[in-house]
Amino acid sequence: MPKILAMGAHPDDMELEAGGTLAKFIKKGYDVYLLILTSGGYTDMNGNTYFDEQLRNEAINASKILGIKEVIFYDYHTTELPSGGEIVSKVDALVDEIKPDVFISHHPFDSHQDHKAAADIMFAVSRQGRVKTVLSGSTLPYRPNVFAFRPQFYVDITDTIDTKMDAIRAYETQYNKFGGEVLIERVRSMARTYGWAMSYEFAECFEVIRMDDSLWI
Ligand SMILES: [Zn+2]
Repeated sequence: MPKILAMGAHPDDMELEAGGTLAKFIKKGYDVYLLILTSGGYTDMNGNTYFDEQLRNEAINASKILGIKEVIFYDYHTTELPSGGEIVSKVDALVDEIKPDVFISHHPFDSHQDHKAAADIMFAVSRQGRVKTVLSGSTLPYRPNVFAFRPQFYVDITDTIDTKMDAIRAYETQYNKFGGEVLIERVRSMARTYGWAMSYEFAECFEVIRMDDSLWI
């Protein structure tokens, strides 16, 4: 069975970018691992502070909803994620251990510095065919560089969108911060718009960095 490694810079990133796809892989019986690079705690523009422990618990709850096999936390400091050196060796070692067939992370032109760093780490680790299929997830619409995102791989998530939304709701702090069901409705609208391209009711989409035929043939 194929193995999938999803790597988010922060807790909740991969649920937003790829939650429906991960849930779909899990329904097919694939093993999905989630690596979260930073501990996620931060203070927002309104002065609200979100604590590492809180976000970690929310990540664990969301992972249970999706059916993630294992969540791994690296606990780098939010906004200070390095893209080279020790962290590449650590993710390298994890890839050696898991041997994923598919690696999903952020887009290299995302406007968040930690997301960019995560994309660089994925590219560095996936050198020379060490991971055969490498995908960058969709940046969120409010990120300025969204026009750099050119998706080629669409996943029909009509059967798993409710699971994705439940996983997003499990991040109670972020759900409340972004307006509760208003957030859910926005993410759902994005999935509906992406689905329009393919005549799916709902889709997630990815920019293909590299892809082999093993998942299809
Ligand atoms: Zn993030």
